[in-house]
Amino acid sequence: MEVGARGIESVARNAGCTRLRAIVIAGLTPTEIVKHVLRAEPDIMSPFAMTLSQAYERRLLENGGTSLLTAYRDKGHLGPTEVKVSSVADHAPGGTVLARQRRELETQRLLDMKHSGNPLAPNLILNPRLPLALVGVTHAIELDYMVASDDAPSYRVGVIKSYADRGGKTDKAHIRSACREASVGTLALRQHLESRNDDPDRAGDRIDMVLRAPGSFVPRLFASMRAESEMASLVRALSAAPADLDEVERLVPAGANFASRDVIDQIPNNYRSNCKEHCALWEHCRAQALAAGQPIILGDAAAEQLAAAGSITRALDLLDGRGRPPENHAEAVLAAELRAAALLLDRIANG
Ligand code: SF4
Repeated sequence: MEVGARGIESVARNAGCTRLRAIVIAGLTPTEIVKHVLRAEPDIMSPFAMTLSQAYERRLLENGGTSLLTAYRDKGHLGPTEVKVSSVADHAPGGTVLARQRRELETQRLLDMKHSGNPLAPNLILNPRLPLALVGVTHAIELDYMVASDDAPSYRVGVIKSYADRGGKTDKAHIRSACREASVGTLALRQHLESRNDDPDRAGDRIDMVLRAPGSFVPRLFASMRAESEMASLVRALSAAPADLDEVERLVPAGANFASRDVIDQIPNNYRSNCKEHCALWEHCRAQALAAGQPIILGDAAAEQLAAAGSITRALDLLDGRGRPPENHAEAVLAAELRAAALLLDRIANG
């Protein structure tokens, strides 16, 4: 199983989690760890959501990307003569090593055509595949598509999501993560340009996103979206990786590897209530947080309010006045707040 753009993007969703970063940088996925190391069933995306997402992506990319091309032409982002489409997936279908290599080479060939000013370079590249090197490890990234008008200096990366576009009510976190997923492709495109001694800035900092109209498979195109901050958050999260690897080396015994549950458990994590949305290890990490009495189990707001206590047990001690007295000003303030809240609750409950 390849980490892919989505896996690399997920690192930025919990930038404080060394465990996830170390797993991804090692070229593994949380799902594989759950299956092969924890010997549990990974909690995958709901079958309905997965079917919808795959069907929508297929619909846009099938028949030589006709629907996608139409969406671009309808909105005037590609002109009437800009209809050149290349499907990398059709060029070398399948999951064999050879097919994957051929897809990578074909993508690089098409990019080189564009960057050398060849007028036959495609306007749409469907399912391009590129290598992305992170901390010395090369990952293969398969993207939904890349797009460029004839006069553009390079391609923009496009991402297709089956989320319904609800205008201002579309979940912002979903939009941000889709932008970051496309930005992973932009990073790979930058590396490709660098490998050819070309200017990486040709890749730009804009991405395209296609959602769907509510209740239908009609595409809603958002072209040329600024993704500077998503790109920055991605680069920030990934740049912590070398320090992580040093830390992991210090924490785990020499010669240990990710095949051991103890090794996984020794790598610091940062359980958050949204882990469930993007990381298959969430049940394991939640169980660890519960065992340690971490306030995050009670939700983000509680975690923030009980931060001074550090654990639920300590917070209860401060409330009851049991155990050690408050050790610092923050604990004393929290103890007073907890008692005031308990009194108020008591008054409301008992009239
Ligand atoms: S579930 Fe665990 S490993 Fe995954 S991001 Fe959350 S804390 Fe990190």
